[in-house]
Amino acid sequence: MIKSHSQVLSARWVVPVTSEPIHGGWVKVENGCVVALGAGTPSAPYRDLGDVAILPGLVNAHTHLEFSDCQEPIGDSGISLSKWIGQVVTTRVASNESNRRAAIDCGIRELAQTGTCLVGEIATTPCQYPADTHGVDLISFAEVLGLNSSRGSERLAAANAHLGFDGSRGVSPHAPYSTSLETIDECLDLVVKQSRPLVMHVAESPDERELLEAGTGPFAEALRSMGVWQDHLFPWPGNPFLGLIERLARAPRSLMIHANDLRTSEIEALAAHPHITVVYCPRTHHFFQYDEHPVAEMLAHGVRVALGTDSRASNPDLNLWSEAQFLWRHRSDLQPASVLEMATWSGSQALGRSNLGSIGSGSLAKLGTVRTTASRVDDLYRDFAANPYHPIGNNIS
Ligand SMILES: [Zn+2]
Repeated sequence: MIKSHSQVLSARWVVPVTSEPIHGGWVKVENGCVVALGAGTPSAPYRDLGDVAILPGLVNAHTHLEFSDCQEPIGDSGISLSKWIGQVVTTRVASNESNRRAAIDCGIRELAQTGTCLVGEIATTPCQYPADTHGVDLISFAEVLGLNSSRGSERLAAANAHLGFDGSRGVSPHAPYSTSLETIDECLDLVVKQSRPLVMHVAESPDERELLEAGTGPFAEALRSMGVWQDHLFPWPGNPFLGLIERLARAPRSLMIHANDLRTSEIEALAAHPHITVVYCPRTHHFFQYDEHPVAEMLAHGVRVALGTDSRASNPDLNLWSEAQFLWRHRSDLQPASVLEMATWSGSQALGRSNLGSIGSGSLAKLGTVRTTASRVDDLYRDFAANPYHPIGNNIS
């Protein structure tokens, strides 16, 4: 956050995201808020940042901060999701409350250092966050999981307590393979009643589809070997994913994490609900070596897609800019500007924070810079793909 009373920053480019990039632009900031922006020489005294683009703060729409102490992802790249979850559960059991708090603190610092100003974070409750979040706006979702009713009810009660009086907090029924339909519906009842957002991991792998549609496959085997299988839980009735989309549409706002394995008819159904955002985690997707993500098809249908890192248990770091760079380098089928929007504005819409993720009059002055010598917009994105993002700290005066 830029704290000084009033100042004007100019740069080779200003990229507001919600409007066209401005060549030779400036941004006027007062008391931590953007009050004006434009092109050309500012009328007031200004500080020229030179050959950089000024960008809004980044938005990481999905992570689990409690795993931020992982030095590297758990398991080898290409590991099956059910095996990976088994290894994550082992890691989590070995962890304790004070380790978790230290990991969360570490993760928040990493987010701040790499320019994330807003994060959607999944919490194992009870969970206490540090008083100082280093300027990162943290939207916390209490995770609920359990295939038997008593475990689901216990986690739901803990989630209810987590909601408290902080109106931005929400609930996260974990995933269709870990949380019974009964408990998912109870989560939805809770968020509807309390007008809260909801997050759920959905359609992460073809194995999940096989479990929900046929009641077979690696997840069924894993659940049996864990001793939590119950015959009445799987397969789900009807088309599981269409049914789930209708369920998520009940919440005031929903974030559908991954959605790697959705098909065209399901993407079309999703497009009818603009208050549902898909969160794509590119490097985590790459770690599991899934087939190409249908993000282009989703965008073409008008589905809002935001970017997330997921946790350090499946990603080498929490740097959201690296997710965008991964797409600029590997997904030439996506419009470069769409990638930037997914890394900023789409996430702030998903998390209910319209004063972040873009540069406009009234937005919070959480900004960053990327080095560029571009004279044309195309070259600007070439430089974004190559150069790091630096948050503008409190040292600017
Ligand atoms: Zn996740």
